[in-house]
Amino acid sequence: MEHIKCLIIGSGPAGYTAAIYASRANIAPVVYAGLQPGGQLTTTTEVENFPGYPEGVQGPELMEDLRKQAERFGAQVRDAVITEANLDAKPYVFKDDSGNELIADTVIIATGATAKYLGLSDEEKYRGMGVSACATCDGFFYRKKVVAVVGGGDTACEEALYLSGLASKVYLIVRKPFLRASKVMQERVFKNEKIEVLFEHNTLGLFGENGVEGAHLVKRLGEADEERYDIAIDGFFLAIGHQPNSTLFKKWVNTDQMGFILTQGNTQATNVEAVFAAGDVCDPVYRQGIVAAGSGCKAAMEAERYLSEHELI
Ligand code: NDP
Repeated sequence: MEHIKCLIIGSGPAGYTAAIYASRANIAPVVYAGLQPGGQLTTTTEVENFPGYPEGVQGPELMEDLRKQAERFGAQVRDAVITEANLDAKPYVFKDDSGNELIADTVIIATGATAKYLGLSDEEKYRGMGVSACATCDGFFYRKKVVAVVGGGDTACEEALYLSGLASKVYLIVRKPFLRASKVMQERVFKNEKIEVLFEHNTLGLFGENGVEGAHLVKRLGEADEERYDIAIDGFFLAIGHQPNSTLFKKWVNTDQMGFILTQGNTQATNVEAVFAAGDVCDPVYRQGIVAAGSGCKAAMEAERYLSEHELI
């Protein structure tokens, strides 16, 4: 069975930064890149807020650079998925999607988060044909068109504002009678003439011949004055939060009620010895590439310290 000193699961900014630090610390990290190598930023176009790129950088290019930087120092990056974990006893045991078994002295969980969907069958039907969970990735296709964004948090407001710069009209579909977003975002949304906020609305389904042409909405569902009607839209954007990819580890690693892995104090340590978490899988608040990268750095330094203290290197 392959014996790995530092297993990094996930290949977003957290995973790759952990790999850069771990390989430079000579602890021979192995990165399992997962189902979406490069993570969420590979579905983005321009990234303008990652320090070091005064002109901005394309998301996939940034992630490719991070991968190369990790590989330059000897990190092994595998385009494979960890499918099973057993953290009952050290060293911990894992299985990948080819059936290979491996054991690891330290583990960095950097599996990220995945956008949530409403669970409508039409979301599947029109995925890539008008349904998206990333305005910055797909907004470009909706120039001068009509779109809807679902959600009432900061992400939904940010997406609606971004889309208002491209689309001719943006509906913001909010299930409550108020927005949950920060005051400043709310103000920007209310001031924007292209955005119409539909409070107390839910989406029942989508329709269209060769892609989304509209949505079936219901206002005040279940109330005496419930009202059902359709709106014509070309694009339907979900912005109802993210689901952390922590399921594989939940039996051992403590999470909050949403599934975000809990880390201890100002460290990346989880409740399981030698198991660290970094990036969006343990961050319900910031969800930024640079924050993920920073936590990946911390996790790798802590893994190195653990190995050294336990004379495993
Ligand atoms: P939030 O959890 O804050 O908001 C999710 C929104 O989606 C809520 O309005 C929620 O409604 C709604 N929602 C959830 N499920 C459904 C559903 N099934 N049907 C309809 N609506 C639904 O997630 P965000 O992604 O917006 O934000 C996550 C964190 O990131 C927050 O802390 C936020 O402040 C932060 N953030 C900060 C930004 C910034 O500062 N620039 C930008 C983006 C995010 P309800 O209110 O009814 O629960």
